Amino acid sequence: MTAPAMPLNVAVEACPPSGIRRYFDVERRMPGSISLGVGEPDFSTPEPIRNAVIASLQSGETSYTANSGLPELRDAICRMTASSIDVEYDPETECLVTVGVSEGLDLALRALLNAGDQVVVAEPCYVSYIPCIRFAGGVAVTVPTSASEGFRCDPERVLGAITPRTKAILVASPANPTGVTQSIDDLKAIVDIAEKYGLYIISDEIYARLRYEGVHSSAAQFNRERTILLNGFSKAYAMTGWRVAYACAPQRVLSLLARIHQYTMLCAPRVSQVAALEALRVGEPFVQAMLQEYDDRRRFVVQALHTAGLPCVTPTGAFYAFPDIRPTGLTSDRFCERLLDEQQLAVVPGSAFGSAGEGHIRCSYAASMQKLQTAMERLTQFVQPLIPREAIPQ
Ligand code: PLP
Repeated sequence: MTAPAMPLNVAVEACPPSGIRRYFDVERRMPGSISLGVGEPDFSTPEPIRNAVIASLQSGETSYTANSGLPELRDAICRMTASSIDVEYDPETECLVTVGVSEGLDLALRALLNAGDQVVVAEPCYVSYIPCIRFAGGVAVTVPTSASEGFRCDPERVLGAITPRTKAILVASPANPTGVTQSIDDLKAIVDIAEKYGLYIISDEIYARLRYEGVHSSAAQFNRERTILLNGFSKAYAMTGWRVAYACAPQRVLSLLARIHQYTMLCAPRVSQVAALEALRVGEPFVQAMLQEYDDRRRFVVQALHTAGLPCVTPTGAFYAFPDIRPTGLTSDRFCERLLDEQQLAVVPGSAFGSAGEGHIRCSYAASMQKLQTAMERLTQFVQPLIPREAIPQ
């Protein structure tokens, strides 16, 4: 007789699959369809970066690197961080090259949390945050944000969510899925809360270089000792497939992230680190050119959404628009299902980013202008019969 199999991990079993995945790969599965569902650049990694990797491979550089990453890459990351946000990190002890911000986030959570510790996070938020908090044994405490407040993460609400079990506040600016950036005053007020209650800030800055208005600010500028800064190459340098990023934090904290990384990952792939180093060396003009393209597309999409009768908080960063679809009377799930069926256009339901995202859809404008034009025509055709005429701005 065999005994029934032991139960699997309850936190993982309880976690539903990502609500985004359903809208991936649509263009391949449905000929003639358009997807604005995927959150990744439509550009290839700039050629000099690819060439540097080819040269490195041809000269036989295929081994592990130091656990924390190539020293010259960590040097370059710390120099860039000092010049962009004026915060100094020691490349030897305060910088770790990770396999995407995804790994950095997981390491940060695992290094900080004991079972039952709470992490405060604004919603709607990036789909991985809440599952990763739970996988690390923590509890996510969400603070709703809303279109009527420009998706501002109100420090008063953050304060209201703090309990004796709170360990960290997770901040993303610019944010996915809303594309909004937090003001310096709000960021500072959130850091003040962290200081007052002895908390850490996990600062996801993956979209820092994709800002269309104002300059990027980081929680680390206000208190580097309490901040784990996560940033990477996926978005700004069109390098999602390379899986390379970094974490910077004071040595006491970073050494714990590095310890987990050392045992679980050993090191980020060497080829990707070579690519990242070249990106920092020669990538800036390419980033500027992509940024200009995204900005043109952003203006076009936001205007088209408004004209179609879907109000949209103006995104100031990343490459997402998060319009309000409540004028159509549909739930975000139903809206996306019908839009895909009737117009072969894929966007992501706001509910995939938490309950505060309901009533919205995420449209990525990391797609060619031609594709965006057709997509906005299809979207307009879909919503027109659903929205009362008087609700559409003339
Ligand atoms: N953080 C945010 C806010 C994201 O939107 C994403 C990807 O979409 C990530 C992190 C993951 O980035 P990476 O490719 O560096 O793992």
